[in-house]
Amino acid sequence: MCLNKRIWVSVKKKQDMIRLNKSSIESEKIMSEKKRFAFPGSKVHSIPFLSFTIEHMSLRIKPDLVNKLLIDCEQQITIRAFEDLSEIVLDISDLKISKVNSQSINISKFRCIDNKQVVIEFSELFRSGSTINIDITYSAGYTNVDGKEEFGSPKTGFHFITKSNHSKQIPAYQAWTQGEATESRYWFPSIDMPQVKLTLDIEVSAPEGYVVISNGLLESKVMKDKLVIWKYVEKRPLPSYLISVVIGTFSHYESKYRDVSLYYYWPEEIKEEDAMLTFSETPKMLKFLEEYFETNYPFQKYSQTAVDNFEFGGMENTTCTTLTRRVLHDKTASKDYRNDIFLVVHELAHQWFGDMVTCKDWPHIWLNEGFATYCESLYWENSRGKDEFQYNLIEATDIYFEESNTLYNRPIVTNLYKHVDDLFDAHSYEKSGFILHMIRNYIGENNFRKSLKVYLEKYQNRFG
Ligand SMILES: [Zn+2]
Repeated sequence: MCLNKRIWVSVKKKQDMIRLNKSSIESEKIMSEKKRFAFPGSKVHSIPFLSFTIEHMSLRIKPDLVNKLLIDCEQQITIRAFEDLSEIVLDISDLKISKVNSQSINISKFRCIDNKQVVIEFSELFRSGSTINIDITYSAGYTNVDGKEEFGSPKTGFHFITKSNHSKQIPAYQAWTQGEATESRYWFPSIDMPQVKLTLDIEVSAPEGYVVISNGLLESKVMKDKLVIWKYVEKRPLPSYLISVVIGTFSHYESKYRDVSLYYYWPEEIKEEDAMLTFSETPKMLKFLEEYFETNYPFQKYSQTAVDNFEFGGMENTTCTTLTRRVLHDKTASKDYRNDIFLVVHELAHQWFGDMVTCKDWPHIWLNEGFATYCESLYWENSRGKDEFQYNLIEATDIYFEESNTLYNRPIVTNLYKHVDDLFDAHSYEKSGFILHMIRNYIGENNFRKSLKVYLEKYQNRFG
């Protein structure tokens, strides 16, 4: 994920300003609190022990753009047990589970706990080492207040975008998902942890004229009941936080890098020549990263889609990055603007570091973000030269020291935090990038590159 660093820093600063406006005695107390990373209420998060995993998911959804609803979704998951089990528990959030069936095991019942978990109980033992398929029908955006059931747009995870937020009547013209860190559970049941990686096929229905972009290769596009069903298949395993769907009307450009299909999508009102100022270096970046890691781009496709109202700079969903449209610009602005190039290379580098090799759990997020951040600098060094590289490092230093001097210091790997999102800071991004820079200088360029290759080879399709 790429946070827009400037926005991120200013929000943090703003919180700090509010704190410092209080009385001086209180301010003194706050100053001592300022150096503490973990918010009150933080707890130690241990890496969870898994008694089963999901190996494959087939998902069928029909997002209703007019009413902004995600109703009657159909999911089939293939599950492998690591021990004898009489029940399994899946993560959900505001999902109403209406049916749970299986052809491969007898299900006695299912129940939801606080709308946060669904427990599926078996009337026979689910044997260690065996696999079963479970079919689940559910709807998202579910609330139940005093017995009154309602369905609305999902609070998060699956976002319907409208021209105005003030009227419920206005249909959505675009929809996109954002899973990282723990928001995929708002649109499908899962084990919502980075270490659970599954293969995927996904069918998404959308009105004619709309484009659907998701993970993997487009296998089919079929017209049914006045809707087009887009089926995508990804055969390399991916965690639930990297599963993505984008729906909208976009202009697009297609190209190839070796045998990898490249797609760039952007809002129709933006001119192709402007959009390409941001996208056109992608093949050059692919070539550089492949050569630097001595590891081919791991997937068969790479798409980048610039969407409206995106929460972050970009998100490295496997094979289908989502970007904020705010980075697109015209030729005049491009003279002074390069954040888009950093963003594009950052998300692309994640396809190796984060997507092919995923961090085992959130406390180790630097393995995703530190590498992607340092790859920005590596590409900059290769394409713009040594001076630009050094300047880029100085800028990164400023971002890290601003956080360190004014907010807190913390270990790069910490399992003491309140919310996963707290870990996405300059320690995980810039400082971790610097540690890689330090290692590169300690062990030398050749050993550094060799070590990246070994790391990628050893942990590919799993977690590092
Ligand atoms: Zn990132």
